[in-house]
Amino acid sequence: MENVIYFDNAATTKVRPEVFEQMNKYFSESYGNGSSIYKIARESRKAIEQSREKVAAAINADKNEVFFTAGGSESDNWALKGVAESYSSKGKHIITLSIEHHAVLHTCQFLETKGFEVTYLPVEEDGIVDINKLKAAIRDDTILISVMFANNEIGSVQPIEEIGKIARQKGIIFHTDAVQAVGHIPIDVKAMNIDLLSMSAHKFYGPKGIGALYIRKGIKITPLIHGGAQEKNRRAGTENVPAIVGMAAALELTVKDLNEESARLARLRDKLIDGILSSIPYSRLNGSREKRLPGNVNISFEFVEGESILLLLDMKGICASSGSACTSGSLDPSHVLLAIGLPHEKAHGSLRLSLGMFNTEQEVDFILKELPPIISRLREMSPLYEDFLKNSKSDVK
Ligand SMILES: *Cc1c(COP(=O)(O)O)cnc(C)c1O
Repeated sequence: MENVIYFDNAATTKVRPEVFEQMNKYFSESYGNGSSIYKIARESRKAIEQSREKVAAAINADKNEVFFTAGGSESDNWALKGVAESYSSKGKHIITLSIEHHAVLHTCQFLETKGFEVTYLPVEEDGIVDINKLKAAIRDDTILISVMFANNEIGSVQPIEEIGKIARQKGIIFHTDAVQAVGHIPIDVKAMNIDLLSMSAHKFYGPKGIGALYIRKGIKITPLIHGGAQEKNRRAGTENVPAIVGMAAALELTVKDLNEESARLARLRDKLIDGILSSIPYSRLNGSREKRLPGNVNISFEFVEGESILLLLDMKGICASSGSACTSGSLDPSHVLLAIGLPHEKAHGSLRLSLGMFNTEQEVDFILKELPPIISRLREMSPLYEDFLKNSKSDVK
């Protein structure tokens, strides 16, 4: 077993060694600027276009519909701001979910200051949107629906195909933040009627700082980054060739054995969930049991703080998260856990274990052994737990 046990694959992943190897050449040999004409630049250009083809193939898009960005946050910003700007004469209403990643939520809040109106739809207790509520929110001036494919904290997978159908029928543009889904569950932008899709390489064993936005042919979108003519005049800046190559290589490899690997992960996930819930009292699973990312476990433990669990796990070499990496470090409980109806104190006591391709059954067994004593130890120190025990004793008599 390695000295680090990494169960935080929803925050980021380790780069596959094969990917790292393929990137190398574009740092030190074929390092030419993709816009120049000599040989080492032509090699860069060729690598970029081959990578674009691989990324397109992974989601059943056309090569000309894939645009490289600096990651998931940029893709989300571009999709929302670009569509808002291009279609504002048609309407100024946007529909999204209350549990979106901050890259979508904060962009929506920004657009509200520019005169757009945003409906933040609630989700049900399982973290999934009610399609009827979505239909009811649609107005004549709705220009965009942005619904995440799968949630980064609780792993809930939204009914994307159904939403795509509705949006297409109504002539509304449909964007999905698929950063947690690409490389993990099958995606077909055509069959799912998706107009715009965000992805990020570091969530599927590729490098950080590189992503893509799929833009369906015919969708108008103003650029976010102005400058040179790269990415068909839609996204300026010298292409990050090694990262682009790494992203495509990672995605190609991941999609190739997606079915097998997701089945393996789902089995480990279920072993973790069942093992934790059966060995630790006053614990509950957050998110849907069935409509769930294969690698996501999110459990709340009453009477303890998530941050304390993380510290004790860290002492055992286990990397995990207590919400999203962006919210840990602040005292606010996760907006996602509050949105599925958890009271503040339960939201504070949550633990996310996200599995990936490098995790083994042995590691799962190790956590199942280490976690129960950690929770017991924290509860022994918890005044909340003490009060609870006193009260429950007085109830019995
Ligand atoms: C990680 C993540 C992002 C942000 O992607 P970056 O590449 O880190 O900018 C956006 N949305 C979701 C759902 C994510 O999980």
